[in-house]
Amino acid sequence: PVEQPEFDLRNYIRNIPDFPKPGILFHDISPLLRNADAWQVATGRLARVIAPWQPDILAGIESRGFLTAAPLAQRLGCGFVMLRKPGKLPGETVSLDYGLEYGHDTLQIQVDAIKPGQRVVILDDLLATGGTLAASVQLLRNVGAEVVGCSVMIELTGLHGRDKLDIPLHSLIHYE
Ligand code: AMP
Repeated sequence: PVEQPEFDLRNYIRNIPDFPKPGILFHDISPLLRNADAWQVATGRLARVIAPWQPDILAGIESRGFLTAAPLAQRLGCGFVMLRKPGKLPGETVSLDYGLEYGHDTLQIQVDAIKPGQRVVILDDLLATGGTLAASVQLLRNVGAEVVGCSVMIELTGLHGRDKLDIPLHSLIHYE
């Protein structure tokens, strides 16, 4: 009942300067999550974009990617898989180390998370440089996934992160 094309999700993103470090403008999705109407509009719009990609699995990137991937997986009848920071997942895992603007980071997945050829859509809260999503695509391919799309709530278009991706990327909100 709340879906209206003019519902502007931007009104529910709080922009906090110098967090977590000086010079970073942090886009905080907490106001969107805690507003029932905004959260329903956001998940509804995401579902309508992701469903036509016909995924078997939605993969969420720790930790804010879990917030959309888990409920949307239930809604669309998909499985949910976690991409996590190192040392969190039990059993045999596969890792991928990737470069950041300053330093590097690692993501892990359980080696048996994906059956060969399963169609996977990756979700995160925000696309900045694209390093995290590009690494996630590679990690999922390394365990046999067919990655069919990526979806984020917020895209920072000025950083051209989508140029690092060779699959469709959808964003709900974008900032220059
Ligand atoms: P990147 O790999 O540069 O695309 O960065 C994306 C990841 O870093 C996502 O998991 C985001 O949660 C986080 N991130 C980067 N920049 C911001 C920002 N300005 N506000 C909130 N989260 C951010």
